[in-house]
Amino acid sequence: MIPLLSFVVPCFNEEDVLRHSVDRLLAAGRALGETFEVVLVDDGSRDRTWAIIDESARGHAEVRGVRLSRNFGHQPAIMAGLEAARGVYVLVIDADLQDPPELAGPMLAEARTDGGWDVVFGQRRSRAEETWLKRATARVFYRMLNALADRPIPVDTGDFRLMSRRVVEALIALPERGRYLRGLVGWVGFRQKAFPYDRAPRAAGQTKYSWGRMLALAVEAVTSFSLRPLRLAIWLGGLQLGVSALVLAWALFSWARGHVVAGWTSMICVMLFIGGMQTLILGILGEYLGKLFIEAKRRPIFIVQETTASAGDAGVRAANT
Ligand code: UDP
Ligand code: MG
Repeated sequence: MIPLLSFVVPCFNEEDVLRHSVDRLLAAGRALGETFEVVLVDDGSRDRTWAIIDESARGHAEVRGVRLSRNFGHQPAIMAGLEAARGVYVLVIDADLQDPPELAGPMLAEARTDGGWDVVFGQRRSRAEETWLKRATARVFYRMLNALADRPIPVDTGDFRLMSRRVVEALIALPERGRYLRGLVGWVGFRQKAFPYDRAPRAAGQTKYSWGRMLALAVEAVTSFSLRPLRLAIWLGGLQLGVSALVLAWALFSWARGHVVAGWTSMICVMLFIGGMQTLILGILGEYLGKLFIEAKRRPIFIVQETTASAGDAGVRAANT
């Protein structure tokens, strides 16, 4: 049976909130009055997350679980969920209830208005009770990303989005390993629409995104979607050459007039500046080189360790073995 809607939920160490989340997802699904399923992806949790998923799958026919073999990260976990989902539409939603499951109905309705929309993405109107530092960095980051990206990526959107089957298939078919979904979804095209909503505070537990992980996501985002940082190196290099030529002219002029040329301080300043810039540019080059290295290896994005067997699946599996 193909459900109309699949909820795809990445979960990493979410034992504090997961039971409650599953209840709310099921309630929201039932309120749709349509067929639905809840695909819970355990991204290598070290707590009781998988036990809770397994138990929910046993208790509710709509719930299915996929367990990854280790912690692959938020974006790969979403990909695992997209591959497991069977729905005509797929709604990606966080396990911590920051994105209200009850919006599934309105988003689905939106997707079916004027000729149909392939992507309805949640756009945060407010982010209740997140620290001002997180809000400020998110704000700066999304705007900076847009300035650098070759294609615009909508501001203030996360991974809370409803996608049609063909968008999901397009994402799965993409060959690359680097998965910054917010960018990739924009890249695949089709008709896309923003859906403003208020982001709730985390229902329980701690954020799984440390500053280090956020920085990694930011670097991934910029380098996946833009060659501009690489080109920036060329402009900086050109600027540096131009300035050097002026300084050289000035030095030669002073020398010709018999002045004592250049103090130690200015010398050091110039050296430090050049050194810093070269390191920066090498870093940018290294980043892209690293990406090529990772893509060249063609490793899978994630590895599934086990899945929960719902009644229907068990039958299929028994028939195959
Ligand atoms: N998550 C995941 N793998 C990870 C980190 C996070 O699957 O390595 C999940 C997490 O369980 C949650 C979602 O991704 O459902 C978003 O994470 P979180 O709420 O910690 O991030 P924040 O909302 O604070 O940005
Ligand atoms: Mg969260």
